[in-house]
Amino acid sequence: MFCTNCGKEIPDNAVVCTACGCLVNGERAVSYCTQEQQQGNGMAIAGFVCSFFVPLLGWIFGGIGLSRSAKRNGKGKAFSIAALAIASVGFVLNMALLF
Ligand SMILES: [Zn+2]
Repeated sequence: MFCTNCGKEIPDNAVVCTACGCLVNGERAVSYCTQEQQQGNGMAIAGFVCSFFVPLLGWIFGGIGLSRSAKRNGKGKAFSIAALAIASVGFVLNMALLF
């Protein structure tokens, strides 16, 4: 199938486009990026939410969100930075609890 966001050919069972990194729906090859561009920066919000529970995911999504916000007139930048900050605090807290 083809990614609806960037148009590159990707494996039929791909969940994430190998070219642009957007989530794709395997059945209809619907890219969530199109939806995301209308609504804002989904990665930043995902990172913000995840950072409370899983700091590592918060870092990943927050980092992706931050790089995407640069291409989208700063959309989601605050969420991305908050996600990275909360993930860092969460990581320190997790370490403090473990050791
Ligand atoms: Zn793509």
